Amino acid sequence: MYKYLFGPVPSRRLGISLGIDMVPKKVCSLNCVYCEVGVTTKHTTERMEYVRYDKVTSELDHYFANSPDPDYFTFSGSGEPTLNSRIGDVIRFVKSRKPHIPVAVLTNGTLLYDEEVQRELMDADLLLPSLDAATKGVFEKLNLPAPGLDFEKYIGGLKSFSKKFRGKIWLEIFILPGYNDTADELQKLKETLLDIRYDSVQINTLDRPGNIIDLRAATHAELKRITDAWNLKNVEIIAAAPARKKIPSYRKDAESAILETIARRPCTLDDLEKMLGLQAVEINKYLDVLEAEEKIVSVAQERGLFYQLKR
Ligand code: SF4
Repeated sequence: MYKYLFGPVPSRRLGISLGIDMVPKKVCSLNCVYCEVGVTTKHTTERMEYVRYDKVTSELDHYFANSPDPDYFTFSGSGEPTLNSRIGDVIRFVKSRKPHIPVAVLTNGTLLYDEEVQRELMDADLLLPSLDAATKGVFEKLNLPAPGLDFEKYIGGLKSFSKKFRGKIWLEIFILPGYNDTADELQKLKETLLDIRYDSVQINTLDRPGNIIDLRAATHAELKRITDAWNLKNVEIIAAAPARKKIPSYRKDAESAILETIARRPCTLDDLEKMLGLQAVEINKYLDVLEAEEKIVSVAQERGLFYQLKR
């Protein structure tokens, strides 16, 4: 069982993706209300070697020797990966061992203004930064930045780095009704997009319940209205979650383990992580499918959101 690698997971955007987790749960510069990983416990912009380089690379060496190649190596997981000060070294390590496999970095983009972070990300092939807000007020309400994180600096860094980075950029915009879907915010988001060099913009909405229980996902019709109004090139609404099941690496054994555990007693995401030794991001993908198939339901209780079998 690896501690810093997860998967390969069936990712709707990256095919079969081996996740590399560079920070413990949960170190992040944001505390987004919709976060699937849980509440940020270390809310910071301070870069450190949160997970040691030698520990990650020794797991990678073991993986390379024993497992088939994934479609992507993806830096993501329990928080913001660019907060790890050795991310550039790990990217170079992966590229030196597996030069033919692309490296993707899922980032909230808040540190892209930092020239050191920019240098470290240069060897990646694909960057997936988030952009949920075009104004400071919405950023603070939706993404809850760490103290000292300046909104203008973040947006400025995203714009300038997009023009320096040589790889592909897939921006992700998370639409959350009641937070960033006013006409004014959507117009400003469009104006911001026009100043970013991107290959695609992927519009997403709530898959799983976030930190706040009464959030709701945008409907497909709402998302479609937004993309129609923007009328920009290469903007897509990400496919619905149940399509994941069609990906060959969808692991029936993981699905069964989750179902069997929930059948014994209702569990929170945290419970499932501890009991099954799987990462929250991975478990969430199966919960998505199971909920869409109406095999399970989520119920809000005092200790959090519990998953139980649908009777
Ligand atoms: S969604 Fe991403 S950026 Fe936002 S709090 Fe969670 S890990 Fe951090």
